Amino acid sequence: ATMPPLLSAIANAGRHGVLVKSAVVMERLGEVNRVALDKTGTLTEGAPRVTGVHGLALEGTEVLALAAAAEHPSEHPLARAVVAAARERGLEPGPAEAFVSEPGRGVRAMVRGREVRVGSPASLLTAACPAVDEAERSGHTAVVVLVDGETAGVLAVTDRLRAGAPAAVAALRGLTGTAPVLLTGDNEPAARQIAAESGISEVLAGLLPEDKAAAVRAWEQAGERVLVVGDGVNDAPALAAAHSSMAMGRAGSDLALETADAVVVRDELTTVPAVVALSRRARRIVV
Ligand code: ADP
Ligand code: MG
Repeated sequence: ATMPPLLSAIANAGRHGVLVKSAVVMERLGEVNRVALDKTGTLTEGAPRVTGVHGLALEGTEVLALAAAAEHPSEHPLARAVVAAARERGLEPGPAEAFVSEPGRGVRAMVRGREVRVGSPASLLTAACPAVDEAERSGHTAVVVLVDGETAGVLAVTDRLRAGAPAAVAALRGLTGTAPVLLTGDNEPAARQIAAESGISEVLAGLLPEDKAAAVRAWEQAGERVLVVGDGVNDAPALAAAHSSMAMGRAGSDLALETADAVVVRDELTTVPAVVALSRRARRIVV
């Protein structure tokens, strides 16, 4: 027997390294007319590096050691960057207790009897901080470290654009007739920099996980059919709210992989428009 078009499209998507979870999903992917892309781990490689350590209330080395201990249990790309930076300086992350992860905000834990919080300036700071402003102005993500409620230091982090990002953005614009939008929990200047490098002009920055989902629901309520591509626990509500969703498979969180309709197993962004096109073709054969 010849294979039904949607099933052979699934097999084809598999050859592109995209795991499409069902025929219904394969069909819906071709219906999308707006695409929303996450920044960290989706448009970027998700392998950020710490490029600056600013000691404030504590010395830089102490800040990095405490932050790495608190971040060690986290699967967030920024957490892995902090742990790697500590190890590069010969600081093995020590034990942490009472670890709590707050998606879109950061982490907290007890390290050697001190309360350590690591996360975004928006969630941890109430007053202005020149070290944060300096990092963000230069397109970095500023990671704030609080120790017992004091601003112990600031880490500057950057991540590289994925090689396929500009081509994927251009192809998605061609397929849907609308330019993709960048959704991120990160700061506006860092988001603008990655957007410019990818060919995106519409940016929604500083979003908490629920804000990403709310943006998607607003578009859906206005009659659009949205494809969300993300990788993190923080993307799960938006992935669930979207008409169609894809998760980056390599470094994607388990929750994102389980929530999304399809998984970009090899993390190749250009396969996203390729699979949308496969769906369109299969649907033309079906109807
Ligand atoms: P994105 O939407 O770009 O994937 P997230 O929503 O995961 O980013 O994170 C938003 C912001 O929250 C980050 O830019 C960072 O400031 C902060 N953050 C989240 N998780 C962590 C963490 N484990 N360590 C440090 N900062 C974090
Ligand atoms: Mg992400």
